[in-house]
Amino acid sequence: MQGLMMQMPLSISSLIVHAARHYGDVEVVSKRVEGDVHRYTYRDLHARAKRLANALDTLGVASGARIGTLAWNGYRHVETYYGVSGSARVCHTINPRLFPEQIAWIIDDAADQYVFFDATFLGLVEALAPKCPHVKGWVLFADPERMPAASSIPNLLCYETLLAQASADYDWPDFDENAASSLCYTSGTTGNPKGALYSHRSTVLHAFAAALPDGMGLSAHECIVPVVPMFHVNAWGLPYAACLTGCKLVLPGPHLDGKSLYELFEAEGVTMSAGVPTIWLGLLQHVVSQQLKFTSFRRTVIGGSACPPAMIRTFREQFGVEVVHAWGMTELSPLGTLCHLQRKHDALPEAEQQALLAKQGHVLYGVDMRIVGADGEDLPWDGKAFGDLLVRGHWVIGEYFKGRGTEQFSQDAQGRTWFATGDVATIDADAYMQITDRSKDVIKSGGEWISSIDLENLAVSHPAVAEAAVIGARHPKWDERPLLVVVKKPGAELTRDELLHFYEGKVAKWWIPDDVVFVDQLPHTATGKLSKLRLREQLQQYVFPAVKDAAPSR
Ligand code: AMP
Repeated sequence: MQGLMMQMPLSISSLIVHAARHYGDVEVVSKRVEGDVHRYTYRDLHARAKRLANALDTLGVASGARIGTLAWNGYRHVETYYGVSGSARVCHTINPRLFPEQIAWIIDDAADQYVFFDATFLGLVEALAPKCPHVKGWVLFADPERMPAASSIPNLLCYETLLAQASADYDWPDFDENAASSLCYTSGTTGNPKGALYSHRSTVLHAFAAALPDGMGLSAHECIVPVVPMFHVNAWGLPYAACLTGCKLVLPGPHLDGKSLYELFEAEGVTMSAGVPTIWLGLLQHVVSQQLKFTSFRRTVIGGSACPPAMIRTFREQFGVEVVHAWGMTELSPLGTLCHLQRKHDALPEAEQQALLAKQGHVLYGVDMRIVGADGEDLPWDGKAFGDLLVRGHWVIGEYFKGRGTEQFSQDAQGRTWFATGDVATIDADAYMQITDRSKDVIKSGGEWISSIDLENLAVSHPAVAEAAVIGARHPKWDERPLLVVVKKPGAELTRDELLHFYEGKVAKWWIPDDVVFVDQLPHTATGKLSKLRLREQLQQYVFPAVKDAAPSR
C-alpha cells in the first residue's frame, strides 16, 4: 500500500524562494573584490537570481549545460548558485588556486559553456581563454564602468549589464529532483581530478541535515560567515542551509587573513563560522598577538583536515568559542560527521569531554558508515580497530562524473553501494568516528601503522609549535619511520631533542618520530590543507641521521 502524500520535488530554487518570502529583509553582506562592503537582502538576492536565469535563457544556455565560476565568497557568486541551478543548469565551481593547466583541463572536462569570474582572476582568465576554445563567453562579475578597456579575452561579458538587461520576472521551473544541480572536482592530489555531480535532491537533503542542532546548528538567530570558499564543496553547503534557515549571511570575499576576518566578525555581529584549520591558525594568531576578544562569535565548525585538540582548547578556553570538529569530503557534499557531546557525556570530567570532542564525530542522519579490514570484513566499533572507512547516503556520490574512479565503489551482500573514502578510521562503541589518517599518509613502520594525525596533534600542542606535519621517511630496517616537520611560532626557541622528549609518555615509544626538520613554512593544497604529497617531494632526499651514520663508507 502506498502512502497518500503529496510529491514535491526537492529543488534548490525552493530554498531561495523560501528565504525571500519568509526572511526577505535578512541581510546578505559581502566584502567585495572592489574593496567595499555590499549589503542587500534575501529578497534582493532572489530578484537578481531570477534575472540571471532570464539572462541565461537569452544567451541560449540549454538545461543541463554547465556554467563555471572562478570566484570568492560574495553575493554575485551566491546568485549564480541559485540562478544557474534553479533554472536547471549546472553550477560548476572551480578552485582558482589550482594550476592554470589543471583549471583548463577541468573547464574542458566539464564542457563549461560560460565561465563567471571575479576581477581578481582577470589575468588567469586571459591565460585560460586560449586553452578553452569551447567556452562561449567569460562573464566578469563587475559593473560596466569597471570592465577592462581592452582585453584579449574573447566574448568578455559584463555580469551587471547582463542582469540589467534581463527581467526579474521568472517562474522557477519544476523538474526531477534528481536532476544535476552542481559540479565540483576533487582536489586530485594524484592524477586528474574527478567530478562530484550533485543533484537538487542531494543538495536540499544535505542542507536540512547541515542545519540540525547537532549538525552545524543554524537558525534565524545566527549570523554566519562561510570562510570556507564557495569553490570548496559549495562552502560546505552553507549558502543553501542559510536560505533554509534564514540566518544572516556574511561573505568574506578574498581577504581571509586573521585581521580581516576579525574585523568582519566584529563589524557584522558574526555568531558562527566554518573553515579549515589553517584559516583559524591565522585568526588565532591575530587575536592572541593583539590581545583581542570576540564579542559575538560563539561557534565554529572546523574540518577539511584534522583539527588539532590544541586549537579546540585555545578557542574554548581563551575565547569562549565552541569548536565543532567535522569530517567530510567533496564526494559527500561534504558533510559526513560532526562532533557534539550527548546528554550522557555531561557528567564526564572535562578532560574526557575534550578527548571526545577531538574526534571527527557522529554521522548525520542520512549517512551510514563502516570500517573494514584489508579483507573487506567489518571491523569492531571499539575505538581501537582501525580500517578503511566506507560510506553511503543521500548526499554521497553514487559514481563519479564520467564514470571515473569505479574502484572506489563496492557492493555489500544486500547489493547496497558503498563508497571507499580513502580515509582510515576507528569507530568507538558510541559510534564516534576518528580519522587516523588518509590511507596514503599512514606511516607503515615494521608492518605496523602509525597515525600521522596523532603525532601532528601532539606536536602542535607544544607552545612553541605553530604548525606540524608528520610523514613516513624511508628506513632500511623499518621500511618507514615518522619524520616530524615543524614551523615554529615567531620568536620561539625550540630544539629537536626538546620536541622529541615532549612525546615521551604521550605515545608508544616506537611511535615517536626519529627526527625533526624545522622549516619556515609547510606546503598547502589549493583548499588550504597540508600537502603531504608536496612535502614528501620536498623531502625526497631526506635520510635519517642514524641511517646516514650507519651507512658503510665507500
Ligand atoms: P576534500 O574532498 O578536498 O574536502 O578532502 C576530503 C578529505 O579531507 C577527507 O577524505 C579526509 O582525508 C580529509 N578530512 C576532511 N575533514 C577531516 C577531518 N576533520 N580530519 C581529518 N581529515 C579530514
